[in-house]
Amino acid sequence: MHEIVQNLININNQLKLLVEVSKIKKLPKIIAVSKTFNLEKISPLIEYGHLDFGENKVQEALDKWSEIKENNPNIQLHMIGKLQTNKVKSAVRLFDYIHSVDSQKLAKKIADEQKKIQRKIKIFIQINIGNENQKSGVQISELKNLVNCCKELELNLVGFMCIPPELGDASIYFKEMNNFNNLYSLDELSMGMSSDFMKAAEHNSTFLRIGSNIFGQRS
Ligand SMILES: *Cc1c(COP(=O)(O)O)cnc(C)c1O
Repeated sequence: MHEIVQNLININNQLKLLVEVSKIKKLPKIIAVSKTFNLEKISPLIEYGHLDFGENKVQEALDKWSEIKENNPNIQLHMIGKLQTNKVKSAVRLFDYIHSVDSQKLAKKIADEQKKIQRKIKIFIQINIGNENQKSGVQISELKNLVNCCKELELNLVGFMCIPPELGDASIYFKEMNNFNNLYSLDELSMGMSSDFMKAAEHNSTFLRIGSNIFGQRS
């Protein structure tokens, strides 16, 4: 078994234990975050049959994934990084999910561009859950307006995404994310990375975004 595939299986086995002890009802999906890694590293996972992959830059994703996606139409590609409006046209053609919608301007651009090609991308609103200056994501005070904007634009809003502050216990932020999902009756939560995926899973995450625990350290 290839080491990278084994890493994925190990993570899945840890998650299965949570189901067995009834801490969670359903296994979250694992997005293998393949940013900076080349096809040599990614191919074993594709051959194994893994379907969800995450990238944070549109151009890198186009270079790496355009051909693979044509040959493997079941692969789901997730845009998890900051998205500039001038990259939206390419993004809605390549990606199946965008996790980083954080402004009305971006939401409008996505609506315009996807209408032209009759696609409906699945959308997460990224929330700046720790109210950090340097982080992307919509401020909590602006969330309601952005949700309403997405509804008016008939975007396929599936849930909320966050990157909690690096220090401290992420649980309080994960709990708050659950409150927002309940408030707006959304189904999906995109939270949990290599360092905190078990905790995120215990807090009902449905999409874990895991890079280094699968592929190794990024250079
Ligand atoms: C890089 C990245 C991840 C994965 O991080 P790891 O710590 O390597 O698991 C998850 N989410 C976002 C938004 C990222 O940019």
